Amino acid sequence: MTNKSYRQLILVPSQAQWQPDDRQSWLDQLRQQGFIGNNIDSASLDRFSIGEHFLQFFSFMGCSPAVEFSPGDGAVIDWQRFIFIHIPATRFDTRWLADQQTARPACPVCNKRTRDWLEQDVSATGELRCPACSASAPLCDWNWYDSGGCAQQFVSIVNVYPREAIPTDHFLNLMANITNTAWHYFYIDSPLIES
Ligand SMILES: [Zn+2]
Repeated sequence: MTNKSYRQLILVPSQAQWQPDDRQSWLDQLRQQGFIGNNIDSASLDRFSIGEHFLQFFSFMGCSPAVEFSPGDGAVIDWQRFIFIHIPATRFDTRWLADQQTARPACPVCNKRTRDWLEQDVSATGELRCPACSASAPLCDWNWYDSGGCAQQFVSIVNVYPREAIPTDHFLNLMANITNTAWHYFYIDSPLIES
């Protein structure tokens, strides 16, 4: 529908293969905990308004006076204008995502960081070759720090600037308790993740 780019804070399970046993009951839990609210419109069932406790789950840094949480009352929703939560359907394969501008992953063998992934055809091969030590390793084995990651189930906070919003330990613990796996996060400027 749209290829617009959005600034997103993306939460991923540390076990990249983690999936909810039942999507609906998982979403219900996230709603009961006050993380997500209701669907924003009936045409986008994977997009949610923020829940009642959202502001306790994320710290907003610096001067973010323009943070907006409501779609407003215009006839057409402007999806780039306010913060919402996007939870795409679970994938059957593990997907890798990284920010084109900021990602400088570290090699799993020698730990040197590189920008060379932009020069190599990594999407085709699924691997990145290290210019420092010449090892080739799957993209998901590299350390992407807070600029990328791999998962089958993503949770995206949409329309936040990098490091403007930071999940609290309380929230990350809550996610871990619900899912029995730790969660971490990264920032990306890219189109919304397709299901
Ligand atoms: Zn290396």
